[in-house]
Amino acid sequence: MSTAILEALRELQGLDQEIRAIAARITDFDPLLAEVEDPALRLEEEVTAARRRLEQMEDDARRAHRSEQEKLIRLEKLEDRLGQVTNLREEAAARAEVDMLRRSLEIEGRDRLQLADQLDRSRAHLATLEAQASAARAQVEPDQEKLLADREELRARKRALEGSRATLLERVSGPALRVYQSFHQAGRAVVVAGITVDGACGSCFNVVPLQLQNEVRRGSDTLVRCEACGVLLAGILEEAEG
Ligand SMILES: [Zn+2]
Repeated sequence: MSTAILEALRELQGLDQEIRAIAARITDFDPLLAEVEDPALRLEEEVTAARRRLEQMEDDARRAHRSEQEKLIRLEKLEDRLGQVTNLREEAAARAEVDMLRRSLEIEGRDRLQLADQLDRSRAHLATLEAQASAARAQVEPDQEKLLADREELRARKRALEGSRATLLERVSGPALRVYQSFHQAGRAVVVAGITVDGACGSCFNVVPLQLQNEVRRGSDTLVRCEACGVLLAGILEEAEG
């Protein structure tokens, strides 16, 4: 019975090693995907920044327009008042204000033209960037899709292995399973090892005491663990490494 469990654990160990290797290969895709997408991402960031600057300028333009409208209304009122002044002092005051408003409108008019020119150039720049960004995006897509497909294939293989693992786990229970789980959680790849021809543990190669060797070879019901490294010892001949 113990032998069957150890065999199942050996199989489990093989699956877990394969699952770990695939998981590492899946993780390797992250930097590759980032690298492939990088040129498109950079341009998209530039587009976002340019769009934000343009919005800011459009706000400024709207504000300037409102201020101009207000000044034009005030100017109109003042001009009306000029027609109704009753003495020279009032007239002089109203004229001074009209002059001031006209000068201010003149300056703002020049600023507005300058801003309109900047807005045109910013819009053109944004359009160029957007075109470059979508071209870059279209260019990275095939490479990206290839990488994603390759990664998906690995993920599917990993899921299949995990399915086999779950089925296998149903065949194992008791202390053997507990030893296995604790090794597995600690990230140790070898849990079950055989004994070499000269009586050493197949994992750490320390000599196993004769009495334990005999127990293992007899296929005893109790689990035998290597005194040096703790792996479960199975009554199989461990092939020499390499
Ligand atoms: Zn050992």
